[in-house]
Amino acid sequence: MDDSLNRRDWLRTLGASGLAAGLGAWHAGHAAAQESGFQSSVIDQHEVQPNRACPSLTDGKVIQPRRELPVVHQTDVLVVGGGPAGVCAAIAARRAGVDVTLVERYGHFGGLWSGGLVLVILGHIVKGGKQVCQGIGEEMMRRLDKLDGAIIDRRPGANPTVDAEAVKYLMVEMIEEVQAKVFLHCWGVDAIVNGNTVHGAVFESKSGRQAILAKTVVDATGDGDLFAAAGAEYERRSHNIGLVSRIGNLDRVDRARAEGSPKPRNLGGRTPVPGVNWVNMHGPEVDGLDVETLTRLELNHRKFIWKNMQKVRRTPGYEKVYLMETAPQLGVRITRVLNGLQRVTLDDLKAATTFADVIGVGGASNGQHGEWQIPYGALVPEKTDNLLAAGRCISAEIRMADLVRLIPNCFVTGHAAGVAAAVAVADGCRPRDVDVKKVQRVLQEQEAYLG
Ligand SMILES: Cc1cc2nc3c(=O)[nH]c(=O)nc-3n(C[C@H](O)[C@H](O)[C@H](O)COP(=O)(O)OP(=O)(O)OC[C@H]3O[C@@H](n4cnc5c(N)ncnc54)[C@H](O)[C@@H]3O)c2cc1C
Repeated sequence: MDDSLNRRDWLRTLGASGLAAGLGAWHAGHAAAQESGFQSSVIDQHEVQPNRACPSLTDGKVIQPRRELPVVHQTDVLVVGGGPAGVCAAIAARRAGVDVTLVERYGHFGGLWSGGLVLVILGHIVKGGKQVCQGIGEEMMRRLDKLDGAIIDRRPGANPTVDAEAVKYLMVEMIEEVQAKVFLHCWGVDAIVNGNTVHGAVFESKSGRQAILAKTVVDATGDGDLFAAAGAEYERRSHNIGLVSRIGNLDRVDRARAEGSPKPRNLGGRTPVPGVNWVNMHGPEVDGLDVETLTRLELNHRKFIWKNMQKVRRTPGYEKVYLMETAPQLGVRITRVLNGLQRVTLDDLKAATTFADVIGVGGASNGQHGEWQIPYGALVPEKTDNLLAAGRCISAEIRMADLVRLIPNCFVTGHAAGVAAAVAVADGCRPRDVDVKKVQRVLQEQEAYLG
């Protein structure tokens, strides 16, 4: 096929006139030198990377020298991590009226929900089928439903299932609506700390190592990367690490041929895309902070999933079923968990303890428990100031890990952390000194359920 034709068609599809207009100013003054129809320019012929301070090898040790970092941005609330908790936190804080900056290491939002292909929303209800995940999480479910990007069935045992691309799209839409400042492709690698007080974070990206200053930081990295860097105490845990995948053509199984042979095991659950299932995986219990372990698991899980699919395809009738994709993100369930002022406990769940500082109510995967309240103190580090945790890394005892980490419960704690951070900024106080009644009022104005 004629390549230039392809490109013209492609540009037309993208709305090329707008793209070309946007790039016009850039190309003025840069000599383009391509005959192919693509464009490329030399920006600087003799550039040396600015602000270098390479580590040196001294007496067999690698030594990192001191250096000043460029401050690329200042903000009221800095949310690190754009998963279910981080996106809710960013939206909530903006709606509460403060400046918000959201930083994410990958090129999309949604965390494990989209990048990890964890497509089933469990834990939005409690015993009796009452839905306790309201507020921004519920708004997301309704909007996904309207986009035709989810099967939203809230009855016990029939949990909402989403399409990962719809989640990614919706999150862009919602973040742009509230006009939060965003940095993608930025990995939070350090906290900026004086004593116990956090003043922002340091990021690595293709632009180098840069700093963002903030009045309050929300750690929504799932792994507590920021509170760990800031020196807060945490519990380090291992958990099962799997790799989720999607398989296609299940609507093309030849039922007549398949009859008589045993149905292949673990074909997963349906998604909003016809003929496409998502396949969960438990995986071994290991340390999700150990990079060699993560590397080994990625390699092994990919081989296992591929080989397993070949077995499925050898089953009569299932020849057309295929592996659509393995999740781009490994399924790390739990690693660091904050030691907070308070802790979510199973005894409190069983006793249905109520807290004066409740900031949300958690649900259970199939509504097997009653309502359990989440106290604000579970988001606040024992000693570190100007930082809150949200999502799967909040303070909770190990027996609660598998409830706390469910997506709706991460929506709830993200929502609360965003509001609390905004109230702290507006009132000029530390998150630990925040007026919790005010936080609760704003949460209720934003349609959160507090029991
Ligand atoms: C295999 C598997 C199956 C699961 N099944 C279900 C299920 O069926 N139903 C359910 O409700 N839940 C399920 N869960 C749990 C749920 O998916 C997660 O607990 C939930 O997504 C956690 O949300 P979060 O926002 O706290 O963290 P994450 O979803 O992990 O999001 C964290 C975000 O922060 C970003 N980030 C991390 N570190 C940095 C950094 N240093 N700098 C910048 N950005 C960073 C990540 O890229 C990500 O976008 C499952 C989890 C796994 C792994």
